[in-house]
Amino acid sequence: MVVTYAQAISAVQERIGQANPMPAAEIVPLEGVGGRVLAEDVLADRDLPPFHRAIRDGYALRAADLSALPALLRCVGEVAAGQHFEGKVLPGQCVSIMTGAPLPVGADAVVMVEHTSCLGEHIEIQRRVQPWENVVRQGSEAALGASVLARGRRLRAAEMGLLAAVGKGRVAVYRRPNVAILPTGDEVVAVEQRPQWFQIRNSNAVTLSAQVAAAGGEPIPLGIAPDRTDALREMIERGLHSDLLLLSGGVSMGKFDLVEEVLAGLRAEFFFQGAAIRPGKPLVFGRVCDRFFFGLPGNPVSTFVTFELFVRPAIAILGGADFEPPLFLRARLAKPCRHSSGLTMFTPARVRVQNRDPVVEVVNWQGSGDLVGTAAANCFLVIHPDQTDLAAGDWVDVMPREQ
Ligand code: AMP
Ligand code: MG
Repeated sequence: MVVTYAQAISAVQERIGQANPMPAAEIVPLEGVGGRVLAEDVLADRDLPPFHRAIRDGYALRAADLSALPALLRCVGEVAAGQHFEGKVLPGQCVSIMTGAPLPVGADAVVMVEHTSCLGEHIEIQRRVQPWENVVRQGSEAALGASVLARGRRLRAAEMGLLAAVGKGRVAVYRRPNVAILPTGDEVVAVEQRPQWFQIRNSNAVTLSAQVAAAGGEPIPLGIAPDRTDALREMIERGLHSDLLLLSGGVSMGKFDLVEEVLAGLRAEFFFQGAAIRPGKPLVFGRVCDRFFFGLPGNPVSTFVTFELFVRPAIAILGGADFEPPLFLRARLAKPCRHSSGLTMFTPARVRVQNRDPVVEVVNWQGSGDLVGTAAANCFLVIHPDQTDLAAGDWVDVMPREQ
Protein backbone atom coordinates (compact mmCIF):
# COMPACT_ATOMS: atom_id res chain seq x y z
CA MET A 1 0.00 0.00 0.00
CA VAL A 2 1.18 3.47 -0.97
CA VAL A 3 0.43 6.09 1.70
CA THR A 4 0.46 9.89 1.77
CA TYR A 5 3.18 11.83 3.59
CA ALA A 6 0.84 12.46 6.54
CA GLN A 7 -0.20 8.79 6.73
CA ALA A 8 3.42 7.68 6.60
CA ILE A 9 4.47 9.91 9.48
CA SER A 10 1.44 8.79 11.54
CA ALA A 11 2.27 5.14 10.83
CA VAL A 12 5.78 5.67 12.23
CA GLN A 13 4.47 7.44 15.32
CA GLU A 14 1.71 4.92 15.98
CA ARG A 15 3.49 1.66 15.21
CA ILE A 16 6.65 2.43 17.15
CA GLY A 17 4.72 4.25 19.88
CA GLN A 18 2.45 1.18 20.36
CA ALA A 19 5.51 -1.02 20.74
CA ASN A 20 6.28 1.22 23.74
CA PRO A 21 10.06 0.83 23.66
CA MET A 22 11.53 1.12 27.13
CA PRO A 23 15.27 1.56 26.72
CA ALA A 24 17.53 0.90 29.70
CA ALA A 25 18.86 3.94 31.54
CA GLU A 26 22.42 4.72 32.60
CA ILE A 27 23.95 7.45 34.75
CA VAL A 28 26.31 9.74 32.83
CA PRO A 29 28.37 12.79 33.91
CA LEU A 30 26.69 16.02 32.83
CA GLU A 31 29.42 16.87 30.29
CA GLY A 32 28.61 13.68 28.36
CA VAL A 33 24.83 14.02 27.96
CA GLY A 34 24.70 16.25 24.84
CA GLY A 35 22.16 14.79 22.38
CA ARG A 36 21.05 12.08 24.84
CA VAL A 37 17.49 11.62 26.15
CA LEU A 38 16.66 12.31 29.80
CA ALA A 39 15.51 9.20 31.70
CA GLU A 40 14.37 10.95 34.90
CA ASP A 41 12.20 13.89 35.89
CA VAL A 42 14.43 16.70 37.14
CA LEU A 43 13.22 19.00 39.90
CA ALA A 44 14.56 22.38 41.01
CA ASP A 45 16.77 21.76 44.07
CA ARG A 46 16.29 25.41 45.14
CA ASP A 47 14.20 28.35 44.02
CA LEU A 48 15.25 29.73 40.62
CA PRO A 49 16.42 32.39 40.96
CA PRO A 50 17.43 31.56 44.55
CA PHE A 51 16.96 35.20 45.66
CA HIS A 52 15.34 38.37 44.31
CA ARG A 53 18.02 39.10 41.69
CA ALA A 54 18.93 42.54 40.37
CA ILE A 55 19.14 42.51 36.57
CA ARG A 56 20.55 46.02 36.18
CA ASP A 57 23.35 48.05 37.77
CA GLY A 58 21.77 50.88 39.76
CA TYR A 59 20.11 51.54 43.10
CA ALA A 60 17.89 49.23 45.10
CA LEU A 61 15.08 51.20 46.70
CA ARG A 62 11.41 51.30 47.58
CA ALA A 63 9.30 52.12 44.51
CA ALA A 64 6.88 54.03 46.76
CA ASP A 65 9.67 56.55 47.55
CA LEU A 66 9.54 57.84 43.96
CA SER A 67 6.11 59.49 43.99
CA ALA A 68 7.73 62.91 43.37
CA LEU A 69 10.64 63.31 40.95
CA PRO A 70 13.47 63.94 41.19
CA ALA A 71 13.67 62.05 44.49
CA LEU A 72 16.63 62.35 46.81
CA LEU A 73 17.52 59.12 48.66
CA ARG A 74 20.33 58.46 51.11
CA CYS A 75 22.72 55.75 49.90
CA VAL A 76 23.39 53.43 52.87
CA GLY A 77 25.60 50.80 51.26
CA GLU A 78 26.66 48.79 48.24
CA VAL A 79 26.04 45.19 47.17
CA ALA A 80 27.80 43.38 44.32
CA ALA A 81 27.09 39.95 42.78
CA GLY A 82 28.36 37.30 45.19
CA GLN A 83 27.69 39.52 48.22
CA HIS A 84 24.60 40.28 50.29
CA PHE A 85 23.57 43.42 52.12
CA GLU A 86 23.26 42.84 55.85
CA GLY A 87 20.96 45.73 56.73
CA LYS A 88 17.51 46.80 55.65
CA VAL A 89 16.59 49.55 53.22
CA LEU A 90 14.33 52.00 55.07
CA PRO A 91 12.02 54.63 53.55
CA GLY A 92 14.14 57.41 52.03
CA GLN A 93 17.15 55.12 51.58
CA CYS A 94 18.79 53.23 48.73
CA VAL A 95 21.69 50.79 48.20
CA SER A 96 24.05 50.78 45.25
CA ILE A 97 23.51 47.39 43.53
CA MET A 98 25.19 45.49 40.69
CA THR A 99 23.63 43.06 38.23
CA GLY A 100 23.34 39.58 39.74
CA ALA A 101 23.29 40.76 43.37
CA PRO A 102 20.47 39.90 45.79
CA LEU A 103 18.02 42.69 46.44
CA PRO A 104 18.48 44.00 50.02
CA VAL A 105 15.63 43.46 52.47
CA GLY A 106 13.20 46.40 52.40
CA ALA A 107 13.87 47.29 48.75
CA ASP A 108 11.39 46.24 46.06
CA ALA A 109 12.88 47.63 42.83
CA VAL A 110 16.06 48.79 41.10
CA VAL A 111 16.52 52.06 39.23
CA MET A 112 19.15 51.90 36.51
CA VAL A 113 22.29 53.91 37.26
CA GLU A 114 21.74 55.81 33.97
CA HIS A 115 18.68 57.51 35.54
CA THR A 116 20.47 58.74 38.66
CA SER A 117 23.11 61.28 39.76
CA CYS A 118 25.39 60.87 42.74
CA LEU A 119 25.36 63.91 45.07
CA GLY A 120 27.76 62.81 47.81
CA GLU A 121 25.83 60.65 50.32
CA HIS A 122 22.60 61.22 48.44
CA ILE A 123 21.43 59.91 45.12
CA GLU A 124 19.11 61.87 42.90
CA ILE A 125 16.64 59.55 41.13
CA GLN A 126 15.17 60.89 37.90
CA ARG A 127 12.89 58.01 36.81
CA ARG A 128 10.02 56.24 38.47
CA VAL A 129 9.96 52.41 38.59
CA GLN A 130 7.17 49.93 39.25
CA PRO A 131 7.50 47.58 42.20
CA TRP A 132 9.79 44.68 41.16
CA GLU A 133 11.08 46.51 38.09
CA ASN A 134 14.63 45.41 37.12
CA VAL A 135 14.35 42.50 39.55
CA VAL A 136 13.62 38.82 38.88
CA ARG A 137 11.74 37.55 41.90
CA GLN A 138 12.92 34.56 43.87
CA GLY A 139 11.38 31.31 42.55
CA SER A 140 9.69 33.02 39.59
CA GLU A 141 11.47 30.84 37.01
CA ALA A 142 10.88 27.67 39.06
CA ALA A 143 10.05 27.12 42.71
CA LEU A 144 11.97 24.63 44.85
CA GLY A 145 10.68 21.14 43.99
CA ALA A 146 9.02 22.15 40.70
CA SER A 147 9.67 20.03 37.61
CA VAL A 148 12.14 21.78 35.28
CA LEU A 149 12.80 18.96 32.78
CA ALA A 150 10.61 15.94 32.11
CA ARG A 151 11.73 12.44 31.20
CA GLY A 152 11.95 12.07 27.42
CA ARG A 153 13.51 15.45 26.79
CA ARG A 154 16.43 15.57 24.35
CA LEU A 155 19.35 17.24 26.15
CA ARG A 156 21.05 20.02 24.24
CA ALA A 157 23.04 23.05 25.37
CA ALA A 158 20.14 24.91 27.05
CA GLU A 159 18.89 21.81 28.88
CA MET A 160 22.44 20.98 29.98
CA GLY A 161 22.84 24.50 31.38
CA LEU A 162 19.58 24.06 33.28
CA LEU A 163 20.77 20.71 34.68
CA ALA A 164 23.91 22.49 35.90
CA ALA A 165 21.78 25.26 37.46
CA VAL A 166 19.90 22.68 39.57
CA GLY A 167 23.06 20.85 40.57
CA LYS A 168 22.69 17.70 38.44
CA GLY A 169 26.32 16.70 37.91
CA ARG A 170 25.26 13.15 37.01
CA VAL A 171 22.19 12.49 34.92
CA ALA A 172 20.10 9.42 34.08
CA VAL A 173 19.81 9.07 30.29
CA TYR A 174 18.46 6.31 28.07
CA ARG A 175 20.74 3.94 26.21
CA ARG A 176 21.10 5.01 22.58
CA PRO A 177 19.21 2.72 20.20
CA ASN A 178 21.46 0.61 17.96
CA VAL A 179 20.71 1.31 14.32
CA ALA A 180 22.09 -1.16 11.79
CA ILE A 181 22.94 0.33 8.39
CA LEU A 182 22.83 -1.99 5.40
CA PRO A 183 23.36 -0.52 1.93
CA THR A 184 22.55 -2.89 -0.91
CA GLY A 185 23.63 -3.00 -4.54
CA ASP A 186 26.12 -4.91 -6.70
CA GLU A 187 27.39 -1.60 -8.09
CA VAL A 188 28.20 -0.17 -4.64
CA VAL A 189 31.83 -0.28 -3.45
CA ALA A 190 33.58 0.82 -0.25
CA VAL A 191 34.86 4.39 -0.10
CA GLU A 192 38.48 3.20 0.30
CA GLN A 193 38.22 1.12 -2.87
CA ARG A 194 39.04 2.51 -6.34
CA PRO A 195 35.74 2.14 -8.21
CA GLN A 196 35.63 0.80 -11.74
CA TRP A 197 33.92 3.16 -14.17
CA PHE A 198 30.54 1.42 -13.77
CA GLN A 199 30.67 1.29 -9.96
CA ILE A 200 29.39 3.75 -7.34
CA ARG A 201 30.98 4.60 -4.01
CA ASN A 202 28.99 3.78 -0.89
CA SER A 203 28.02 7.28 0.14
CA ASN A 204 24.74 6.24 1.75
CA ALA A 205 26.36 4.41 4.65
CA VAL A 206 28.34 7.54 5.49
CA THR A 207 25.33 9.86 5.23
CA LEU A 208 23.17 7.50 7.26
CA SER A 209 25.80 6.96 9.98
CA ALA A 210 26.10 10.72 10.46
CA GLN A 211 22.32 11.13 10.49
CA VAL A 212 21.85 8.27 12.96
CA ALA A 213 24.44 9.76 15.33
CA ALA A 214 22.86 13.22 15.04
CA ALA A 215 19.44 11.69 15.76
CA GLY A 216 20.73 10.13 19.00
CA GLY A 217 21.29 6.58 17.73
CA GLU A 218 24.36 4.36 17.67
CA PRO A 219 25.21 3.58 14.03
CA ILE A 220 26.17 -0.05 13.34
CA PRO A 221 27.52 -0.29 9.76
CA LEU A 222 27.08 -3.82 8.38
CA GLY A 223 29.01 -3.52 5.13
CA ILE A 224 27.48 -3.72 1.66
CA ALA A 225 24.91 -6.37 0.74
CA PRO A 226 24.99 -7.73 -2.82
CA ASP A 227 21.82 -8.05 -4.93
CA ARG A 228 21.62 -11.78 -4.17
CA THR A 229 18.84 -13.30 -2.12
CA ASP A 230 20.88 -15.63 0.10
CA ALA A 231 23.58 -13.10 1.05
CA LEU A 232 21.04 -10.34 1.46
CA ARG A 233 18.93 -12.49 3.74
CA GLU A 234 21.89 -13.35 5.92
CA MET A 235 22.87 -9.69 6.31
CA ILE A 236 19.29 -8.57 6.99
CA GLU A 237 19.00 -11.22 9.70
CA ARG A 238 22.16 -9.83 11.27
CA GLY A 239 20.73 -6.30 11.06
CA LEU A 240 17.54 -7.40 12.82
CA HIS A 241 19.55 -7.91 16.03
CA SER A 242 19.71 -4.10 16.32
CA ASP A 243 16.88 -1.92 17.62
CA LEU A 244 16.29 -0.63 14.09
CA LEU A 245 17.49 -1.77 10.67
CA LEU A 246 18.01 0.70 7.83
CA LEU A 247 18.42 -0.71 4.34
CA SER A 248 19.26 1.45 1.39
CA GLY A 249 18.52 0.52 -2.22
CA GLY A 250 16.80 -2.51 -3.67
CA VAL A 251 13.23 -1.38 -2.94
CA SER A 252 12.25 -0.19 -6.45
CA MET A 253 10.69 -2.22 -9.27
CA GLY A 254 13.94 -3.47 -10.87
CA LYS A 255 14.66 -7.15 -11.47
CA PHE A 256 17.38 -7.07 -8.79
CA ASP A 257 15.47 -5.06 -6.20
CA LEU A 258 15.19 -7.94 -3.75
CA VAL A 259 14.83 -6.27 -0.35
CA GLU A 260 11.05 -6.61 0.00
CA GLU A 261 11.07 -10.19 -1.27
CA VAL A 262 13.73 -11.17 1.27
CA LEU A 263 11.93 -9.35 4.09
CA ALA A 264 8.67 -11.04 3.11
CA GLY A 265 10.49 -14.38 3.30
CA LEU A 266 11.41 -13.47 6.88
CA ARG A 267 7.68 -12.97 7.59
CA ALA A 268 7.91 -9.23 7.73
CA GLU A 269 4.81 -7.18 8.47
CA PHE A 270 4.77 -4.18 6.12
CA PHE A 271 3.08 -1.00 7.39
CA PHE A 272 3.53 0.68 4.05
CA GLN A 273 5.31 -0.07 0.79
CA GLY A 274 5.59 3.25 -0.96
CA ALA A 275 4.88 6.85 0.05
CA ALA A 276 3.46 9.60 -2.17
CA ILE A 277 6.59 11.75 -1.87
CA ARG A 278 9.40 12.79 -4.17
CA PRO A 279 12.15 11.93 -3.74
CA GLY A 280 11.61 8.74 -1.80
CA LYS A 281 8.53 7.11 -3.33
CA PRO A 282 9.63 3.44 -2.95
CA LEU A 283 10.15 3.81 0.82
CA VAL A 284 9.18 0.75 2.91
CA PHE A 285 8.45 0.54 6.65
CA GLY A 286 7.72 -2.58 8.64
CA ARG A 287 8.67 -5.04 11.33
CA VAL A 288 10.06 -8.56 11.66
CA CYS A 289 8.93 -9.90 15.06
CA ASP A 290 9.59 -6.94 17.37
CA ARG A 291 12.30 -5.30 15.23
CA PHE A 292 11.44 -2.37 12.99
CA PHE A 293 13.06 -1.72 9.64
CA PHE A 294 13.03 0.91 6.93
CA GLY A 295 13.86 0.07 3.33
CA LEU A 296 15.09 3.44 2.08
CA PRO A 297 15.40 4.10 -1.65
CA GLY A 298 19.04 3.92 -2.78
CA ASN A 299 19.34 7.27 -4.49
CA PRO A 300 21.46 9.36 -2.11
CA VAL A 301 19.05 12.29 -1.83
CA SER A 302 16.08 9.95 -1.39
CA THR A 303 17.97 8.17 1.37
CA PHE A 304 18.83 11.46 3.04
CA VAL A 305 15.32 12.96 2.84
CA THR A 306 13.43 9.84 3.91
CA PHE A 307 15.74 9.55 6.90
CA GLU A 308 15.01 13.13 7.96
CA LEU A 309 11.27 12.69 7.46
CA PHE A 310 10.66 9.28 9.02
CA VAL A 311 13.74 7.67 10.53
CA ARG A 312 14.79 10.57 12.75
CA PRO A 313 11.38 10.56 14.55
CA ALA A 314 11.53 6.74 14.74
CA ILE A 315 14.93 6.85 16.46
CA ALA A 316 13.59 9.46 18.87
CA ILE A 317 10.75 7.19 20.02
CA LEU A 318 12.99 4.10 20.17
CA GLY A 319 15.40 6.12 22.32
CA GLY A 320 12.72 7.06 24.85
CA ALA A 321 12.30 10.63 23.56
CA ASP A 322 9.11 12.45 22.77
CA PHE A 323 7.90 12.09 19.17
CA GLU A 324 9.54 14.89 17.17
CA PRO A 325 7.98 15.24 13.71
CA PRO A 326 9.95 17.18 11.09
CA LEU A 327 9.64 20.91 11.61
CA PHE A 328 8.46 22.97 8.64
CA LEU A 329 9.05 26.72 8.62
CA ARG A 330 7.68 29.31 6.19
CA ALA A 331 9.41 31.31 3.47
CA ARG A 332 8.43 33.20 0.34
CA LEU A 333 8.96 31.57 -3.04
CA ALA A 334 11.61 33.33 -5.14
CA LYS A 335 10.22 32.01 -8.43
CA PRO A 336 6.85 30.62 -9.55
CA CYS A 337 6.40 26.87 -9.25
CA ARG A 338 3.97 24.53 -10.97
CA HIS A 339 3.49 20.84 -10.36
CA SER A 340 0.79 18.25 -10.77
CA SER A 341 2.42 15.04 -9.64
CA GLY A 342 0.01 14.43 -6.74
CA LEU A 343 3.08 13.92 -4.52
CA THR A 344 4.55 15.89 -1.64
CA MET A 345 7.78 17.27 -3.08
CA PHE A 346 10.99 17.93 -1.15
CA THR A 347 13.39 19.87 -3.36
CA PRO A 348 16.88 20.99 -2.25
CA ALA A 349 16.78 24.76 -1.89
CA ARG A 350 18.42 27.71 -0.22
CA VAL A 351 16.62 30.08 2.08
CA ARG A 352 18.05 33.55 2.67
CA VAL A 353 16.71 36.75 4.20
CA GLN A 354 15.65 39.47 1.78
CA ASN A 355 13.94 42.67 2.97
CA ARG A 356 13.41 40.96 6.34
CA ASP A 357 11.50 38.04 4.80
CA PRO A 358 12.91 34.55 4.35
CA VAL A 359 13.00 33.81 0.62
CA VAL A 360 13.49 30.29 -0.75
CA GLU A 361 14.99 29.33 -4.09
CA VAL A 362 15.52 25.84 -5.47
CA VAL A 363 19.18 24.93 -6.10
CA ASN A 364 20.41 23.57 -9.38
CA TRP A 365 20.11 19.78 -9.10
CA GLN A 366 19.75 16.76 -11.30
CA GLY A 367 17.26 14.80 -9.24
CA SER A 368 17.38 12.32 -6.42
CA GLY A 369 20.92 11.11 -7.11
CA ASP A 370 22.44 14.58 -6.86
CA LEU A 371 24.38 15.00 -3.62
CA VAL A 372 26.25 17.97 -5.11
CA GLY A 373 23.04 20.01 -5.27
CA THR A 374 21.91 18.76 -1.86
CA ALA A 375 25.21 19.74 -0.23
CA ALA A 376 24.72 23.25 -1.66
CA ALA A 377 21.22 23.49 -0.13
CA ASN A 378 20.36 24.61 3.39
CA CYS A 379 16.73 23.44 3.31
CA PHE A 380 14.16 21.53 1.30
CA LEU A 381 11.31 23.38 -0.34
CA VAL A 382 8.15 21.45 0.57
CA ILE A 383 5.31 21.53 -1.97
CA HIS A 384 2.11 19.78 -1.00
CA PRO A 385 -0.05 17.90 -3.54
CA ASP A 386 -2.76 20.61 -3.55
CA GLN A 387 -0.25 23.40 -4.31
CA THR A 388 -0.25 22.99 -8.07
CA ASP A 389 0.32 26.58 -9.13
CA LEU A 390 2.40 28.85 -6.91
CA ALA A 391 3.45 32.41 -7.73
CA ALA A 392 6.66 34.22 -6.78
CA GLY A 393 6.19 35.72 -3.30
CA ASP A 394 3.75 33.02 -2.10
CA TRP A 395 4.40 31.66 1.38
CA VAL A 396 5.47 28.01 1.31
CA ASP A 397 6.84 25.40 3.70
CA VAL A 398 10.55 24.76 4.02
CA MET A 399 12.21 22.02 6.03
CA PRO A 400 15.70 22.83 7.38
CA ARG A 401 18.17 20.42 5.76
CA GLU A 402 19.18 18.98 9.12
CA GLN A 403 17.18 19.38 12.32
P1 AMP B 1 18.24 1.36 -6.05
O1 AMP B 1 17.29 1.98 -5.07
O2 AMP B 1 18.93 0.16 -5.54
O3 AMP B 1 17.56 1.14 -7.38
O4 AMP B 1 19.37 2.44 -6.30
C1 AMP B 1 19.03 3.70 -6.84
C2 AMP B 1 20.26 4.47 -7.17
O5 AMP B 1 20.97 4.76 -5.99
C3 AMP B 1 21.23 3.77 -8.09
O6 AMP B 1 21.71 4.71 -9.04
C4 AMP B 1 22.30 3.31 -7.15
O7 AMP B 1 23.55 3.16 -7.77
C5 AMP B 1 22.33 4.39 -6.10
N1 AMP B 1 22.80 3.82 -4.84
C6 AMP B 1 22.31 2.72 -4.25
N2 AMP B 1 22.93 2.46 -3.09
C7 AMP B 1 23.85 3.44 -2.93
C8 AMP B 1 24.82 3.74 -1.94
N3 AMP B 1 24.97 2.95 -0.87
N4 AMP B 1 25.59 4.83 -2.08
C9 AMP B 1 25.42 5.63 -3.16
N5 AMP B 1 24.52 5.41 -4.13
C10 AMP B 1 23.75 4.32 -4.05
MG1 MG C 1 20.09 -1.35 -6.19
